[in-house]
Amino acid sequence: MTAYDQNNIFARILRGEIPCRKVYEDDSALAFHDINPQAPFHVLVIPKGPYVSMADFTANAPDALVLGFFRAVGKVAAELGLVDPGYRILANHGPDSHQEVPHLHIHIFGGKRLGPMLVRDWPKA
Ligand code: 5GP
Repeated sequence: MTAYDQNNIFARILRGEIPCRKVYEDDSALAFHDINPQAPFHVLVIPKGPYVSMADFTANAPDALVLGFFRAVGKVAAELGLVDPGYRILANHGPDSHQEVPHLHIHIFGGKRLGPMLVRDWPKA
C-alpha cells in the first residue's frame, strides 16, 4: 500500500485549500458533491484523517473514527432523501478498482434507477 500523500486533492479540500460543494460535516467526516457526477446524486464522503483507502482505514484508524465515518455515510444518504428510493455506495481501493484519489472516499450514488452494479466483461471460464 502506498504512503499517504498529504497533498492529494481531498487532503487539500479537508484543509480548506480547495473549495467543495459541502453537503455535511462533523468531527469524523466531510461530504461534498463529486465534481463530475455519474448520477443525479453523487456525493463523496471522506474521513477526517490521513487514510489512503478502505484497506488503510479499516486497519489503522481508531475505532471512534471508523464508527463516526460510517455513521456519517448513512446520515448523508438519509439527508439526501435516498433511503426510501434507494442508493448505492462504492469505495475503490487500489489499481484494479481505478482509484484515482488516494484518500479514502465513499461514493454515494442515487436519484435514478442505477442498473446492474458491474458490466460483465471478462472471459467466461
Ligand atoms: P475514485 O476513482 O478515486 O474512486 O473517485 C474519485 C472521484 O473524485 C471522481 O468521481 C472524481 O470526479 C472526483 N474528484 C476528483 N477531483 C475532485 C475535486 O477536485 N473536487 C470534487 N468535488 N471531486 C473530485
